[in-house]
Amino acid sequence: MKVLVINSGSSSIKYQLLDPDSTDVVASGMVSRIGESLPDDVVTIEHKSDGKTFEHQGEIIDHAAGLRAVFGLFADSGHDLATEGLGAVGHRVVHGGEVFYEPTLITDDVVKAISDLSSLAPLHNPANVVGIESARALLPEVPQVAVFDTAFFHHLPAAAKTYAIDAETAAAHGVRKYGFHGTSHEYVSGQVADFLGRETTDLNQIVLHLGNGASASAIRGGRAVDTTMGLTPLEGLVMGTRSGDLDPGIIFHLIRTADMDVNDVDALLNRQSGIKGLSGVNDFRELGQLIEKGDTAAKLAFEVYIHRLRRYLGAYLVELGRVDAITFTAGVGENDAKVRAAALAALERYGIRIDEARNTAKDRSARQISTDDSEVAVLVVPTNEELAIARASAKLVA
Ligand code: ADP
Repeated sequence: MKVLVINSGSSSIKYQLLDPDSTDVVASGMVSRIGESLPDDVVTIEHKSDGKTFEHQGEIIDHAAGLRAVFGLFADSGHDLATEGLGAVGHRVVHGGEVFYEPTLITDDVVKAISDLSSLAPLHNPANVVGIESARALLPEVPQVAVFDTAFFHHLPAAAKTYAIDAETAAAHGVRKYGFHGTSHEYVSGQVADFLGRETTDLNQIVLHLGNGASASAIRGGRAVDTTMGLTPLEGLVMGTRSGDLDPGIIFHLIRTADMDVNDVDALLNRQSGIKGLSGVNDFRELGQLIEKGDTAAKLAFEVYIHRLRRYLGAYLVELGRVDAITFTAGVGENDAKVRAAALAALERYGIRIDEARNTAKDRSARQISTDDSEVAVLVVPTNEELAIARASAKLVA
């Protein structure tokens, strides 16, 4: 069986057709700049299949048009979805609220409920719904499954998920820590157990998902007990363009004194903050180059990033008491040896010892970067949310 995984954003759709058992990727690609009026020669879809890249040029008026064009590219590349043995379509859905915490077969009621959760994720859930509706219209015979980014954190302990605000207000408006990147944290912690030849139930883990968005989780015996993201994906670590934690008083201060309204502050904290806000760039490759040139703002951005990361590492070491594995994943975590080295520097007394040669080795597979005598295994494990969504979807429809 093959599964088409769709990650639909506000102006883009990422997709992958893969076999969840063999893990073979048949094709993958991305539709970008949906809804923009563009000249006919602008490439809006890049579709990769059998080592070749196929392109679609010209504007894409909406998500449905984008998916129709993608289906055309599948056919052009010799993989007609109608005959490809498609067993399910798996959709990444960002916010499941209190309602969804398992992979869920999509029905009209489920679509409505995901849409109703939009107040908790105004940028994401409406885009997810449009992707789901377009795919259902184009593939009415194929079961569609929603996999939620919040699901892995649904059962966080009350003490970890509760914000210390008026309890009635919180309950009335769904204010709690939900957490995000759950599919990645769950997948990676499972890979760690396989790598170590242990069961997830026997392991206490810290997973550091450091991509453009970034989050950490503390996992005890396979269950998440804490995570850095909160009601929204803004809380916690410093990210590419998001601030992560700050004094909420800053928001009131800016609204009262900086001639900014709520939407301005929202945009500031989500899009013009983090590494970008501090240094002008949000990509860690560029940040590294700036630091090498002696750019002091870039150096400070790196230090703020590491400071926050270590603060949460300390918190989770104490929360878990005993930690068996600390794992780096996602774009920065998998590729940036300097971030990994700085995050875990001088923690020998906590049983954490990094092997410099292992840390800096060019290797893309799951690997250990701690020394053999490090009590805590430190690993780098590539995340694969598409595979996790495909597997969850296949399991549900089976
Ligand atoms: P997203 O959150 O968009 O899924 P990714 O997990 O793909 O993000 O991470 C993207 C980020 O990873 C980039 O913005 C960049 O900062 C970082 N990154 C990617 N490749 C490298 C690399 N070779 N070295 C350092 N950082 C990298």
